[in-house]
Amino acid sequence: MARLHVAARTIEPIPVLFFMNTYQKLGALAENLWWSWNPEVLDLFERLDRTTFRNAGNNPIAVLQTLSPETTFEDTLASDIDTAHAAMTAYLEAPCPFPHAPRTSYFCMEFGIHESLPIYAGGLGILAGDHTKAASDLCIPFTAIGLFLKQGYFEQHFTEDGWQQERYPVLDPENHPLELVCGTDGKPILVTVHFGNQPIRIQAWRAQVGRTTLYLLDTHLEDNPEEFRNITARLYQGERRTRLQQEIVLGIGGVRLLRALGVETDVYHMNEGHCAFLSLELLREQLNPGKSREEAVRAVRSQCVFTTHTPVIAGHDRFDPGMFLNEMSAHREELGHNEHDLMAYGRVDPDNPGEWFTMTVLGLNMSRRANGVSQRNGHVAKRQWHPMFPDRRVQDVPIGAITNGIHVATWAAPVARAFLNEKIGDWKKHTDDLHFWRGIDDIPDEVLWEYRNELRRQLIRFAAEHVEKQSLSISCELDPDALTLGFARRFATYKRAPLLFTDIERTIALFSNPDRPIQIIYAGKSHPEDEEGKQFIRQILEAAQRPGLQGRVVFLENYNMQIGRMLTSGCDVWLNNPRSPMEASGTSGQKVAVHGGLNLSVLDGWWPEGYNGENGWAIGHGYADGSFDEAELDRRDAESLYRQLEQGVVPAFYERDGRGVPAQWIGRMRAAMAELTPRFSAIRMVKEYAGKMYFATKESDGDSPYIDNPATTYASSTPPATTSA
Ligand SMILES: *Cc1c(COP(=O)(O)O)cnc(C)c1O
Repeated sequence: MARLHVAARTIEPIPVLFFMNTYQKLGALAENLWWSWNPEVLDLFERLDRTTFRNAGNNPIAVLQTLSPETTFEDTLASDIDTAHAAMTAYLEAPCPFPHAPRTSYFCMEFGIHESLPIYAGGLGILAGDHTKAASDLCIPFTAIGLFLKQGYFEQHFTEDGWQQERYPVLDPENHPLELVCGTDGKPILVTVHFGNQPIRIQAWRAQVGRTTLYLLDTHLEDNPEEFRNITARLYQGERRTRLQQEIVLGIGGVRLLRALGVETDVYHMNEGHCAFLSLELLREQLNPGKSREEAVRAVRSQCVFTTHTPVIAGHDRFDPGMFLNEMSAHREELGHNEHDLMAYGRVDPDNPGEWFTMTVLGLNMSRRANGVSQRNGHVAKRQWHPMFPDRRVQDVPIGAITNGIHVATWAAPVARAFLNEKIGDWKKHTDDLHFWRGIDDIPDEVLWEYRNELRRQLIRFAAEHVEKQSLSISCELDPDALTLGFARRFATYKRAPLLFTDIERTIALFSNPDRPIQIIYAGKSHPEDEEGKQFIRQILEAAQRPGLQGRVVFLENYNMQIGRMLTSGCDVWLNNPRSPMEASGTSGQKVAVHGGLNLSVLDGWWPEGYNGENGWAIGHGYADGSFDEAELDRRDAESLYRQLEQGVVPAFYERDGRGVPAQWIGRMRAAMAELTPRFSAIRMVKEYAGKMYFATKESDGDSPYIDNPATTYASSTPPATTSA
């Protein structure tokens, strides 16, 4: 099927040289992932062919492929297509407020843009997708670089006894808004890197995300030895060597692609350590004109910023010297470095021959600025990397913090969008404006309560339909009016998914109280090699069969962005109980706020900044890390969780006034919607990155025209008291 490439380019507005017919407009809409945060556009495709659209995982290209230039459109639909196309054109061509903003190239291993493009595994990818979209909204000159993960996000299904199985469907770029990157001669642009002395060729796919462009690097080429063709296919799997090779492709290959394309870059943003080899490629370029090592490193640093997410040392990518030097031999020679000098960039102690090469250390060494992803995570990172800066005090370790936020337009349910437009106005234009969101205060209690009820009921219908289709047989008897909790995230063990079942009798008493019933919906994938994570899912499935819990504890299989959207929009309470301080930020809880959902969360990640005592609930007391052993911490947190549910959450939901409205609950909803939504939005986050990282050089500290809205500067949060005893 021939595909239209009516490209929407970023820099120059396209002059209207020809008249576009409806079919061409539809093609232009399908080709820009702008639709991933504009559900009105997806609606058009669903109206055209609902079955095809849904079977393809909500993918508009699948519908486009069933049409032809001869297709005729019914009048209303044609007019809606015109409207949508005009809106997209206006968005793409709006003048940029700061045409001289630094040109930023943003590297990340994974990108979560939409469920139909499964090139993400979890929070890191979702964050990168949300960052890219917000950069587009803010008109920052921005290019994103990732991997073409042909089998990126596996599909989850189950054996009869509840053991997770994985399926790896292969992503065919023809069926997605991806275009092979070609030169003016029409041939694919290829760049080369080396694994050891073996040259590896890389091609790239281009995706348009609003105004920004995302390039995905791909080694699946005939030119490459068979064993290396699938290097870029899967995420976080296989041996360490494979990971190292992926990272060579991403970092070194990524910079080479930018050069081949002529994409000029002022700032390289390394999002997590996986891509930090990009700094070695910049170093090679700097060394070429005969600069000294010191000068070259300084020049590289002046161009790079680094974001770290991982709060445990073992979680950072590290490579043993033998394997590392072997795989990097050609690149080391290009740099003209001896082995010791290359290893030194990735070692805390450059002279320790036993120390492995750590990507985060490389990233920190090669950046002018670095940050963690919540205030708390920033503090943890300072302690973690203090050994790299032995003559400084911990608080002076040069790692700051920019707290994650979500791209509200991506996560807001259609019901929420319509509601907000009607009640408070053009929220998309004011996403991070605290004054604007105070408009929530004027909405009457009953109206807010009806909003909540509608979103919950919609989720419960979705869950019932999903359970019908899934491989896992589980009974689903959710009550559309009962207090509904949600828990969905990767089943990494530190997130303690089954914590709620610590004392099963107490749980049953809570769930099966006939006057005040509660229910919970789970979703999440375990890493394919994580037996404990798979065991956790099984524990939940077992609990779900207990009398008193059956039908009220539901597991939705195959967690993805769609299930994430449904759960975070519909649940009354979002449960988050990681072992503190292991959650760098967490973003799923930020998605509930705009829907009037409330967080019930351990004071970890973003929540110590978000929680103010009146906009949700806290579990535990924000213990400093290391004060308890794991078992003791788990016991205390479980006790706190039960107590909050029994004494806080359940009474607040069920105590109704004369109008049948839970006044205390609505007060919390109001506070969460009005304050958390703007503060934890990706628009606020990317403005902060622009101000503190992209614009800021040593001379002009954080002096950025992007931080121009006084409403967005909120008091820098003091984390709530942390008890270390
Ligand atoms: C939001 C989201 C995440 C990140 O959730 P955390 O709370 O940060 O773990 C992961 N996966 C999907 C599909 C999401 O929507």
